Amino acid sequence: MAKSIVIVESPTKVKTINKILGKNFKVVSSMGHLVDLPKSTLGVDIENDFEPKLIVVRKKQKILTKLKKDCAKAKEIYFASDPDREGEAIGWNLVSHIGEGKKIFRVTFQEITKEAVLKAFKHPREFDQKKINAQMARRVLDRIVGYKISPLLWKKVGSRLSAGRVQSVALRIIVDREREIKKFVPNEYWQISVDLKKEGYDNILEASFEKINGEKPEIGSQDRANELVESIRKEKFVVTDITKRQISRKSQAPLRTSTMQQEAFNKLRFNASKTMMVAQQLYEGIDLGDGETIGLITYMRTDSVNVSNEAIEKVRSFIGDNYGEKYLPEIPNKFKAKKSAQEAHEAIRPSDVLRRPNDLRQYLDDDQFKLYELIWNKFVSSQMVPSLYENKKIEIAAGNFQFGASGSTLLFDGYLAIENEAREEESKIDFSHYDKGDNLNLVEVKPTQHFTKPPPRFSDASLVKALEEDGIGRPSTYASIILTLVMRNYVEREKGYLGPTELGVLISDLLVEYFSKIMDITFTAKMEENLDLIEEGDLVYKDLLKEFYQPFNEELDYAEDNIVKTENFVDKDCPECGKKLLIKWGRRGKFLSCSGFPDCKHAEPLTLGIKCPEEGCEGEVVKRKSSRGAFYGCTKYPQCTYVSKELPEEE
Ligand SMILES: [Zn+2]
Ligand SMILES: [Zn+2]
Repeated sequence: MAKSIVIVESPTKVKTINKILGKNFKVVSSMGHLVDLPKSTLGVDIENDFEPKLIVVRKKQKILTKLKKDCAKAKEIYFASDPDREGEAIGWNLVSHIGEGKKIFRVTFQEITKEAVLKAFKHPREFDQKKINAQMARRVLDRIVGYKISPLLWKKVGSRLSAGRVQSVALRIIVDREREIKKFVPNEYWQISVDLKKEGYDNILEASFEKINGEKPEIGSQDRANELVESIRKEKFVVTDITKRQISRKSQAPLRTSTMQQEAFNKLRFNASKTMMVAQQLYEGIDLGDGETIGLITYMRTDSVNVSNEAIEKVRSFIGDNYGEKYLPEIPNKFKAKKSAQEAHEAIRPSDVLRRPNDLRQYLDDDQFKLYELIWNKFVSSQMVPSLYENKKIEIAAGNFQFGASGSTLLFDGYLAIENEAREEESKIDFSHYDKGDNLNLVEVKPTQHFTKPPPRFSDASLVKALEEDGIGRPSTYASIILTLVMRNYVEREKGYLGPTELGVLISDLLVEYFSKIMDITFTAKMEENLDLIEEGDLVYKDLLKEFYQPFNEELDYAEDNIVKTENFVDKDCPECGKKLLIKWGRRGKFLSCSGFPDCKHAEPLTLGIKCPEEGCEGEVVKRKSSRGAFYGCTKYPQCTYVSKELPEEE
């Protein structure tokens, strides 16, 4: 009997799944998208209901030929690409090429384990056209924006630049934040604390100045601070109240894509792309020594916090066995997903909670281990009871002034038994020596100067959070939005924080001026919602594209008529043809180009007008960029290898 063919999109999954399915199946990989819009033209028939013109990707012809051969004798083809829109489309787009005369099945699973895969193959389904349409609509929207706007950038700014639909809004968010930071004016303010001592007890009690005549003080200058310090010195200090309050803190939901990217940045300093790459390795399968590869986590692109009943049962018995019944809530903890989350999806969790991070240490590289541990911790703690703190506060009066000192003690760790670092918030101050009515002696009054701070630049973590809150982007796109902006040199990563480049600001401002709709957060969020509606079957592909295209086309017409070519000539002639040189923007920054282009192809780096400090070198200093950041080099490179982090002084 001919083997049934199983098609997946990645070679790692081939190995894992073939082992599970056994010899009646042959698993093959499509190596991603084989069919896509053409590169050279728009590939969308706007007049004809936005019909996409899909073609076989040129570099993948060979793979398709091989796939056809693999499928030639098979009677059944199972499409087992990832369980989301993109996976659905990757499979469906192949059907017309290899599926003729065959039985076609779609199978999806949230984790690549024996149980999950076998179960999925017992219940294969048909392709979901709504999912495919939603994916196609995203692709076509992005394509129209990219192909129509980019030529305007070439005209105004420089060749080979491009604009993306969602990336451009993200760029705007980053540029807006940079302007906020630049125009921020810090405000001076002062805080005052006192060191106090109780007669016969050696420890110092530090209390902060909280109120004057019952009002929160505003201390804007050193003079005012000194005035208050003088008055405070004259007063007598008495404990007026000691209060205790128990506070319970609940565990957080298990991870989904956006929270995984945030946690991995905050705890591990992984950027969003790295997190997704490592998560994909864990999902697709890791060799656990006996030649058997197993998917260690559930699918990593998800906005759901659901957990399957089987996984809940397993983690509850794990908690009971290893931590005891008092760590186990009476009924499983439930978490609310955001409204667009798909019920069929699951949170990101270990495929088997009994595989503890340390048991797997030897099979994982450092990054895989750290991310697995993070996912495992978050999952197990999400099903444990809250932690319990006791907060104590001492209130102290001194004339019209009120001071306070507070501390908290962990009474019961609860879910914190898993996540040790969270305990550090505990501040142990021993209040047991103080009673209401105690007199305290003043040891010292300590005024400190502060300034209000501007909002910080975005990190991968805070940008993903903002994108999710604004409804822009989806689990499949957060990481690629950031990566694209960095690759295009519109945004720079500096010590983990994202700032716009000069080029990024230029592009963002131009797009905001001419394409206010595309650059509008609400409009973009609405488009994302509409894509969800297509997937749910509540909106039709061509209606969404019409709703989008009409206002876009109006802006496009206006921009085409009004964006004028700008030419920034410099006072230097082309050494080849004598015409004037002008400044142009390329993907790697500014450079000088001959105004006779394309007849004359002369181009040279834009120097800073400073001679190279290297002895005997005739070159000039230029700013260059590498993956490790900006540096200064010489125009005569490679003959001259001068490099410096600092701009050299001009003699
Ligand atoms: Zn020239
Ligand atoms: Zn030089």
